[in-house]
Amino acid sequence: MIRRLGLFLFSFLLAFPLKGQDSVQARKWVHDLCSDALAGRGYLRNGSEKAATYLAEAFRNLGLSPLFSSGKAGYFQPFSLEVNTITKAPQLQINGRSLQPGKDFIVSASSPSSSQKVTGAEAQQYLKWTDKLTWTVGRKQDSEPRFTILRKAADSASVASVNWRVRAKLQKQQVRNVGGLIRGKKYPDKWILISAHYDHLGGMGEGIWFKGAHDNASGVAVMLDLARHYLQPNHQPDYTLVFVAFAAEEAGLLGSSHFADHLPLPLIDMHFQLNLDLLGGGSQGVTIVNSYRYPVLLKQLKQLGAQHGLAAVNARDNAPNSDHFPLAQKGFPAFFLYTLGDVTAYHDVDDLPETLPFSRYSAIFSFLRDWINQAAILSFRKE
Ligand SMILES: [Zn+2]
Repeated sequence: MIRRLGLFLFSFLLAFPLKGQDSVQARKWVHDLCSDALAGRGYLRNGSEKAATYLAEAFRNLGLSPLFSSGKAGYFQPFSLEVNTITKAPQLQINGRSLQPGKDFIVSASSPSSSQKVTGAEAQQYLKWTDKLTWTVGRKQDSEPRFTILRKAADSASVASVNWRVRAKLQKQQVRNVGGLIRGKKYPDKWILISAHYDHLGGMGEGIWFKGAHDNASGVAVMLDLARHYLQPNHQPDYTLVFVAFAAEEAGLLGSSHFADHLPLPLIDMHFQLNLDLLGGGSQGVTIVNSYRYPVLLKQLKQLGAQHGLAAVNARDNAPNSDHFPLAQKGFPAFFLYTLGDVTAYHDVDDLPETLPFSRYSAIFSFLRDWINQAAILSFRKE
């Protein structure tokens, strides 16, 4: 583990520093975050914890100060969760023919260990049929497994027998939010939270990795690139910038909820939160969740988006769909920005770094940078 981590940290150091806002450095981070060594940044093979270690090193190499306390451990905010892992690639046969895990079918994330053969009409009760496989994180164990199968992978009408073998383990795991900051020069006591969740689904057994390039290595890479920008001596921000890579978003916004309950800085001094998730697309613009309640800001951001050539800046009402939610729910201006267009992979084995478009990277980066730079003249009044 350590040796592998050392290898990609080396590539990180070589690449730094780069000029400009192209996606070259961001792609390197995405590539590292999606490497087999980080195991889909989930709970099999400690992928989430390895990703946290990688990110703290990245924060330190960039020059961010630790957020939670002093020293190297100060980048981490640990907490734990109960999580179910599928420990071996599940086996599923229909009428004696094996289907491919991840490609043809997924097993329910809350499946228990189970080996069984079922014949006749009863077989269908264990099966669901779909045109798109979408996996998730399980936090409990059901009494029996369920299998979701792609319609094109097997004939749903001619199922005579099903047999399977699943190995799963429900256990408590430690995870860590990773946080760093840059002190502001004009308003050092006021802070802007820039966040992105780094966890993903991990593996549905060894080798069946869900790598989450779009969800959300892309957002983490943009966040790191913003940190890199503001750490240049001539780019010191007006406000203190707090960067947090959240753990366990896919398990139910657990990292951001823990952060919201254990804030390292007074919430009353937070100017706003900008949460980045699903940043790999952009040809159809962006949507900003919770901006709907901030009509003046939305108008200002639409103008800013037009200046940078974004196809659209859409509003959406608040929803518990990413890590802005815990602070938005406390009534603070917390927004979640995602890109539109270009990516169809979602919570499946096809969300890969090789096919991540980053199609409007420069435009989106400069839009976010100017949003942060203009924070003093934007309106965060809620209506
Ligand atoms: Zn997700």
